Amino acid sequence: MIGRFASVAALIAEQRPEVPVHLLRPHRVAETARAFVAGFPGDVLFAVKCNAHPLVLQTLRAEGVRSFDVASPHEIRRVREAVPDGVMFYHHPAKTPAQIQFAVDHGVGYFAVDCIAELEKLAAVAGRRAVPMVRLAIPKGTGAVYDLSTKFGAPPDVFVATLRRAVELGMAPGVTFHVGSQCLDPEAFRLGIRLACALLEGAGVEVKLMDIGGGFPAYYRTTDAPPLASFFAVIDEARRQWAAPRGIRLLCEPGRGLVAEGGSLLARVILRKPEAVYLNDGIFGGLTEVYWGKDELSLPYRALAGDGSLRGGPTRALIAYGPTCDGNDRLPYALDLPAEVTDGDYIEFNLIGAYGREMAARYNGMVSEAVAVIDADFAGHMTREAA
Ligand SMILES: *Cc1c(COP(=O)(O)O)cnc(C)c1O
Repeated sequence: MIGRFASVAALIAEQRPEVPVHLLRPHRVAETARAFVAGFPGDVLFAVKCNAHPLVLQTLRAEGVRSFDVASPHEIRRVREAVPDGVMFYHHPAKTPAQIQFAVDHGVGYFAVDCIAELEKLAAVAGRRAVPMVRLAIPKGTGAVYDLSTKFGAPPDVFVATLRRAVELGMAPGVTFHVGSQCLDPEAFRLGIRLACALLEGAGVEVKLMDIGGGFPAYYRTTDAPPLASFFAVIDEARRQWAAPRGIRLLCEPGRGLVAEGGSLLARVILRKPEAVYLNDGIFGGLTEVYWGKDELSLPYRALAGDGSLRGGPTRALIAYGPTCDGNDRLPYALDLPAEVTDGDYIEFNLIGAYGREMAARYNGMVSEAVAVIDADFAGHMTREAA
């Protein structure tokens, strides 16, 4: 942590950072967490993989998010350190016995499984008091940018067989699914809840918990999705219709939708050429997800001069290269930047609070652990911060 600053301008004026800096805005994380806790008809977990910074975890805890979706011993350790009383769900459906044992030793009680083999492994290591959360694959075409049911999730027959086997083993299973990340259509959640409840009905298995996953969108420049409240309204309708009558409590485990707005990335212009800028961060660093999401995750950004003031004036499209020597290290779209942008300027990319710092590699020895807290909101695409 390099410090806390009233604004990005103040950080630049004071430090002129040489390395990329991940800017956290805990007040934005807190505000979104309050909206989730107040609006979601059930318990809100946080998917730790998208941002495990202790300040993020602690801010969420302070706003009533007590439970965390983790996928590795390292994530379990990070949650235990930052939030000692955090409740953890080990929602990776493929674990080694040693990983399961590690989780049990750290007080984890809930484990995703998506087949009988993983269920039996869990029962053998953790015993029948562990709660298997059986993961259902969601059919394609739910309006999400990323499909999260290609790798994990049981098809209906395996889902039912795994639930029945859990009951045979004397376990009390729950259910989980994920509609896909950056889901633009609230109806996807209705479909998931209805499908899971119909399969439970057919299987004759009763469960108490249904975790409907993450997938809530962040509002990128090109995102055409209704507001979060619309997602909560559809989910509550589906809950009343299918889940509540069976005595099922809903959980959700958003990552992106909770914390994307809580962080931005401050990259420095190393070199300006007439048609391009070479930045000190790129697709192998904090901007990894831009490579995968392309225009669908189009980030708001703005250019600041070396004294922290906003760059303005006529703009032109500039190619943006990252710092490594790899020819692929280039943003998938040109940046529309003020023509006067020059060496030593900064570009701040917003909506990097999710899948930013966590995804960064250390290719070519280029890695930055620098984090700063900013009290001002991101000012908007190419706009000046309020004084
Ligand atoms: C990544 C992931 C999430 C979070 O997804 P978002 O789209 O960021 O909300 C939740 N649950 C599981 C199991 C995941 O793998």
